[in-house]
Amino acid sequence: MMATGEKDVRLKVLYCGVCHADLLFARNDVGFSTYPLVPGHEIAGVVTEVGSKVTKCKVGDKVGLRCFIGSCGDCSNDLENYCPKRISTYPGTYHDGTPTYGGYTDIMAADEHFVICFPQNMALDSGAPLLCAGITVYSPTKL
Ligand SMILES: [Zn+2]
Ligand SMILES: [Zn+2]
Repeated sequence: MMATGEKDVRLKVLYCGVCHADLLFARNDVGFSTYPLVPGHEIAGVVTEVGSKVTKCKVGDKVGLRCFIGSCGDCSNDLENYCPKRISTYPGTYHDGTPTYGGYTDIMAADEHFVICFPQNMALDSGAPLLCAGITVYSPTKL
């Protein structure tokens, strides 16, 4: 687990959806899995710690994470998915060299830019699957 940096949010994972991509990575059907591997990218939890420069959320807030948890920090137009320095939720490597583990773990940290803020009255078991399955269906119907 990486140290909580000044722009990082640490959370306790309470729910995580199961995506077919988790199975693909667990079996290395993608060809670039690294082990040990902890899947999960439909993550919902509660903030337990924030870095000194975090403004997006505070301890106790309900938040979520998706497929990426970091990037170079200087990406334009919200195109972090193309950033050569993006950090995958799993399998990936933090800036400090430690491996990333997905939402089937219990504690995670991410750059605040990649944190989704849920409405505080939202049930998190309903929120988690929105972060991959939900957006996958929503985005083409909106376009
Ligand atoms: Zn998925
Ligand atoms: Zn970038």
